[in-house]
Amino acid sequence: MSKNLQPVVLCLSGLDPSGGAGIQADIETLASLGCHCAPIITTLTVQDSCNVTELSCVDPAFITRQMAVIFADMKVSAIKIGLLGSTGVTQAIAAVLEKHPNIPVIIDPVLKASGGTELANQRVIESIRQHLLPKTSVITPNADEAQKLSPHPSNDDAHLAQYFHSQGCQYLLITGGDSPADASHSNVTNTLYCAGQPPLAHHWPRLAGSFHGSGCTLAAAVSAFIALGDAMPEAVYKAQQYTHGTLKNAQALGEGALIPIRVPAQ
Ligand code: PLP
Repeated sequence: MSKNLQPVVLCLSGLDPSGGAGIQADIETLASLGCHCAPIITTLTVQDSCNVTELSCVDPAFITRQMAVIFADMKVSAIKIGLLGSTGVTQAIAAVLEKHPNIPVIIDPVLKASGGTELANQRVIESIRQHLLPKTSVITPNADEAQKLSPHPSNDDAHLAQYFHSQGCQYLLITGGDSPADASHSNVTNTLYCAGQPPLAHHWPRLAGSFHGSGCTLAAAVSAFIALGDAMPEAVYKAQQYTHGTLKNAQALGEGALIPIRVPAQ
């Protein structure tokens, strides 16, 4: 048996049948970065590469039992959370996290599909604020999601960051890929905020086209590098580098957005 065990990352995400986003993005990203994904589905979706048309949440008690058996069985090095779907699911996950306060938690707050469908109502947003932010190591919203998650919306990202930090969320990574303010610029800027430190901005050449699952890929990659032992700023940088590569190789597998290629053919 190999002595170099792959770190296990527990992923709680939605199932996207187009395979661009959600749990498939987690599994592929983690496997290609040398980690093992323990996948738990929070919500089934009806969607293609264009948009989401239906959500069907999994029973929260079922998710609680899935998490319990995995924690009893495996050493979990990081927890990555994507689409939640309901307040019940959010609270069930938060209750389990309470028992594992030392495991880093990476949250991609999936509030709206890039195709336009809302994926979290106000109650779910409130539940994320109340139950998950205090347990979060890093959250990775785009500018719009960061505004929605804060009860005090502001155009000043540093001001938004203060809210997240005040709730106990250590790091905030605001992604610029789908920010309209950036659209005329040739770069995408992602900025990492940590309380008491200057923001850390990284710029990436803006790639042509729109992508389905880029946010899931980025957050999963952050969880992989954290599980592999990197400090947060390094994990976030390497995750952006990785994600940029998957987007450069993205393919038009459907009629809508391009799908990142996370597992290149051998
Ligand atoms: N469906 C699921 C299950 C997701 O996790 C996500 C994003 O994280 C989406 C849909 C939306 O993906 P995108 O906005 O990249 O199209």
